[in-house]
Amino acid sequence: MESKRDFGFERDLEHMRECYRKGRTKEASWRVSQLKGLQKFLKEKENEVLMALKQDLGKHPAEAFRDEVGILIKSLSFVLGNLKQWMSSKKAQLPRLALLSSAEVVPEPLGLVLVFSSWNFPLVLSLEPLIGAIAAGNAVILKPSELAPACSSLLANTLPTYLDNTVIKVIEGGPDVGEQLLEQKWDKIFFTGSSKVGRIVMSAAVQHLTPVTLELGGKCPIVLDSLSWSWEREVAVNRILVTKFGFCAGQACIGIDYAIVEKKFASNLMELMKIMMKKMFGENPRESNSIARIINKHHFLRLKNLLNDPLVKNSIVHGGSMDEDNLFIEPTILLDPPLQSAVMTEEIFGPILPIITLDKIEDSICFINSRPRPLAMYVFTKNEALRRRMVSETSSGSLVFNDAVIQFAADTLPFGGVGESGFGKYHGKFSFDTFSHYKAVATRSFLTDFWFRFPPWNNYKLLLLDCALNLDYFGLLLVILGLKRSRKGFNIN
Ligand code: NAD
Repeated sequence: MESKRDFGFERDLEHMRECYRKGRTKEASWRVSQLKGLQKFLKEKENEVLMALKQDLGKHPAEAFRDEVGILIKSLSFVLGNLKQWMSSKKAQLPRLALLSSAEVVPEPLGLVLVFSSWNFPLVLSLEPLIGAIAAGNAVILKPSELAPACSSLLANTLPTYLDNTVIKVIEGGPDVGEQLLEQKWDKIFFTGSSKVGRIVMSAAVQHLTPVTLELGGKCPIVLDSLSWSWEREVAVNRILVTKFGFCAGQACIGIDYAIVEKKFASNLMELMKIMMKKMFGENPRESNSIARIINKHHFLRLKNLLNDPLVKNSIVHGGSMDEDNLFIEPTILLDPPLQSAVMTEEIFGPILPIITLDKIEDSICFINSRPRPLAMYVFTKNEALRRRMVSETSSGSLVFNDAVIQFAADTLPFGGVGESGFGKYHGKFSFDTFSHYKAVATRSFLTDFWFRFPPWNNYKLLLLDCALNLDYFGLLLVILGLKRSRKGFNIN
């Protein structure tokens, strides 16, 4: 039997725990210096980062800056601008029974936390949670995805120069390293990846009652209402195409998986899409430098199989060509593929856009609700009644009207899933909260006490307790004086 490889990080982890216990990561000055270290890393290593993203995924530097480096720079300055306020304790009130007292809610770090990231946005999905973990004062192990090796080794080799390597470490590796990391005891596991591995993470976390955040995927729909003006349709189609094909070539958890439109609008939409795709990616998209490449052969073949599915072949209305040597798949549109086909039951994660037509756009609510709750949903409409129904009758991690993926760049919105798309949230203050424990701290004076708080008990004390818990001081005085009835309907005299 093959024996399990020991990656020998247990001693490192013990040392990190020890440093954490001694308070190394808790001071505001340490947190600020690490966040500034990340700023410095992004500034000094920007070219290397953009090159690594090009190497792993063929992302154009403009796309890589928009979706990864730029977002992180913005995020870091937001966190640095707000950290002092987030770290401060917030006053709270105790019940009147605790006369002469004060209370506060004190944020404290969780301890030693583990961050797993995914390959499709290898920088932002590694560093965005890392920012939150550092801001909240934790020691962190980051395990990037082995499927984006250039980014993974850049992080592992370069971050130690910019960060406190005694309590922040990058451990590279694949599932075997991941499994061994999961055997350790953590104070929090933050996981971005597939629901299959998410389940493995959760069952490992159960052993130590470790809290987890699972950032998973799924099928994110767009609903495109037949907008009345042609310029509005053009704006909508432009935004849809850039999200589907110009956002890591559709390999994005919050990218568009499939679109729903009304039957009568389908042919007009197809024409518009073809014209606008030409503008974005040229006559021959294979030569365009604005479409990222598929991450590896395994995923290329997975996508090829989706398109070669006999159920789906006749639905291809645009694109469909591919180049295995260059891991390129042409932006492809399918019209009404069978709902039981793999392309409509599995997460696509690539540049293939199925368009599903329905008689009425309102039917999309039922269509979406009969499937697992998505990480994101996008609705293009000017119909206020439909807008309201979408908000109140559907459930998703996020819901955006008339654009897509902009929620990912917002520091003020929670980012995370619901149901099968995961749980927990991050970005901005939500990241700080995700990696913090809010401790209740209460202090009482020795001076006074309500005598009816203590045994021996009688019904008179019961009434007073009821009044003290449910009335303000003035109400309580009135009841004691017999001028007001207690909540139980009679006075106590
Ligand atoms: P994955 O689950 O295969 O891998 C994620 C991480 O887990 C990687 O670091 C990997 O090395 C590690 N891992 C893999 N197998 C493991 C095992 N057996 N034990 C321990 N660790 C293991 O996912 P992926 O292929 O990197 O990402 C694709 C999925 O992630 C898609 O479903 C996508 O929707 C989702 N995703 C979600 C988000 C989000 O923010 N919600 C972002 C990106 C990707």
